[in-house]
Amino acid sequence: MTTVNELSRTAAAPWAARGPVFSQPGLARPAAGATPHDLDRLRASHARGRPGKPLVPTGVASPRLGDELFARLLAYGTPHETHRGDVLFRPGDEDVDLIVVDRGSVEVVRTETAGAPAATVATVDVGGFVGELNLLTGQNVYLLCRVREGGRVYRVSPERLRQLMANDVELSDIVFKALIARRELLQRSTAALAVEIVGADRSAAALALRTYAARQRLIHLWFDADTPAGRAMMESFGLTEDDLPAVVMPGTTLTQATPGGLADKLGLSYRRSSAKPADVTIVGAGPAGLAAAVYGASEGLDTVLLDAVSTGGQAAASSRIENYLGFPFGLSGADLTGLAVLQALKFGAQLASPCQAVKLDTDRNGDLLRLHLQGGEVIDSKAVVIATGARYRALPLERWPDFEGAGIYYAATELEARGCAGSPVTVVGGANSAGQAALYLAGRGSEVSLVVRGPDIATEMSAYLVDRLLAHPRVTVLCRSEVTRLDGGDFLEEVTITDRTAGTAQAQPCAGLFCFIGAEPATSWLTGIATGDDGFIRTDVQLTDNDLGPAWTTLGRRPLPFETSIPAVFAVGDVHSGSMKRVAAATGEGASAIASVHKAIAALA
Ligand SMILES: Cc1cc2nc3c(=O)[nH]c(=O)nc-3n(C[C@H](O)[C@H](O)[C@H](O)COP(=O)(O)OP(=O)(O)OC[C@H]3O[C@@H](n4cnc5c(N)ncnc54)[C@H](O)[C@@H]3O)c2cc1C
Repeated sequence: MTTVNELSRTAAAPWAARGPVFSQPGLARPAAGATPHDLDRLRASHARGRPGKPLVPTGVASPRLGDELFARLLAYGTPHETHRGDVLFRPGDEDVDLIVVDRGSVEVVRTETAGAPAATVATVDVGGFVGELNLLTGQNVYLLCRVREGGRVYRVSPERLRQLMANDVELSDIVFKALIARRELLQRSTAALAVEIVGADRSAAALALRTYAARQRLIHLWFDADTPAGRAMMESFGLTEDDLPAVVMPGTTLTQATPGGLADKLGLSYRRSSAKPADVTIVGAGPAGLAAAVYGASEGLDTVLLDAVSTGGQAAASSRIENYLGFPFGLSGADLTGLAVLQALKFGAQLASPCQAVKLDTDRNGDLLRLHLQGGEVIDSKAVVIATGARYRALPLERWPDFEGAGIYYAATELEARGCAGSPVTVVGGANSAGQAALYLAGRGSEVSLVVRGPDIATEMSAYLVDRLLAHPRVTVLCRSEVTRLDGGDFLEEVTITDRTAGTAQAQPCAGLFCFIGAEPATSWLTGIATGDDGFIRTDVQLTDNDLGPAWTTLGRRPLPFETSIPAVFAVGDVHSGSMKRVAAATGEGASAIASVHKAIAALA
């Protein structure tokens, strides 16, 4: 048996436009193009120019399985005889199978749309398999898979794929890496365009969409409406400025698009494939929730993880985390949490975002807790982990809400910094997050005013950051100072900084105000749960007898580590009273809480 699907000749430049993406040279030919030439060329250059290093070597996209491993893979599937032209899945299908080719061959095709011609994305022959990361994320397919040459395929259902991932380390390693590598290849290819976003570079709505797409690792391209490519896109799809931001997908165009609308179209909103209650539902997918999901799913719990915005939490807003154990050169929060998402998916956790929890019924319905979601759906589960972190504080200034996302940001990553590179910016706050942001922005060529209310920058900030900030030629530290006024049109253009010692106020140009002045616990959706005066949730030894109602007398036990005043409801990470507000602490709490979840569930049985 031979495996003949392999990386195309484009391996030297694997993201070449319109080539087959993971198939043998010569087997697949792109269909003749009718797309307007300019737009096609611009798309290709956008795709090639995508930043970032592949997570896994792209060569692993088309693994060659030996006979014994291939037989093990087939054992997870059910055989189906195929005939030329049979369709194995089509755009819009949900919960598709991994398709393993035992005899014959199949092809994966992007069907023709108004804006782009049909294109062959891959051909897969004997010994290969069809599938990419959406097999694990649950995203519906946007490509068509049909039989080229009749024979036999084995279909591995999503449930069987999860079993494979859990039970066969060797095989799961190969399959999982291939799924990731394919996603990476597809992200850099124009042959498999799935999502194209067009909008104004500095619009808050466009930023929300792009942040969502980036954190979900969606195969997408971004077009700034003020560039030739953006204008060509708008013309090609008949879009006006009022339609922006818009998302163009095969067969659909979303105007005034939101992350929620996009998630619905892609099948990434919450949907439960099984009628069974979950073992554990985790609310909030920052480091604490992600750690709980990885440990819960890897230890055999049926695990659901939800986030109101998108995976990653506050940590994904950090351009560089330098104090996370084992990463002496630091890493970006988006990389750290992005890898954690893949890990949770690998172990079979079900992820959904944007998906906001709006209420938790504290009266147990039998052995179950009921969580209500914004769209009206409910999730029943044996245990709930609250990992909703904290929400950023804002300054009480006129026009603040107008500029949120349009010049005012609560994160300093590539996405936010791009619109301000080289222009003057203001960072507000005296803790490490503000210091990191100031250095990052200064490193991107901006003159940075770091505005600190207190008398001394060293009061709350780590010494290593203080030294670097004071030595940086493009950073000006303004202590005992406050931002007191905002000005601009659609976007922030100017801030006024008042020096409280001198009693002077000075207006200065500002392309971006980055605000890091702390956060409030995200608990407004919860009632009947014991919190401290500051609203953070108390757990285990922080709870007094007065906090524990009759339910505990019936249970005949005290709260377990991280358990709240409601049995089988746990709180971890920044939302937890007295937490350290650090990534490592949040992940430690999320992982540790799972030990308590096991005990609480066992006590119910
Ligand atoms: C810019 C910045 C830089 C930082 N740098 C560092 C650093 O270098 N080192 C370090 O150790 N720490 C750093 N931190 C702190 C660190 O990021 C946090 O301590 C950590 O992210 C807390 O994790 P968490 O999972 O508890 O909460 P969060 O990361 O806040 O995640 C909570 C999640 O819950 C979701 N959520 C809220 N309400 C709901 C709801 N009702 N339904 C569903 N979902 C909901 C939110 O959308 C969010 O995604 C930084 C923070 C920021 C903002």
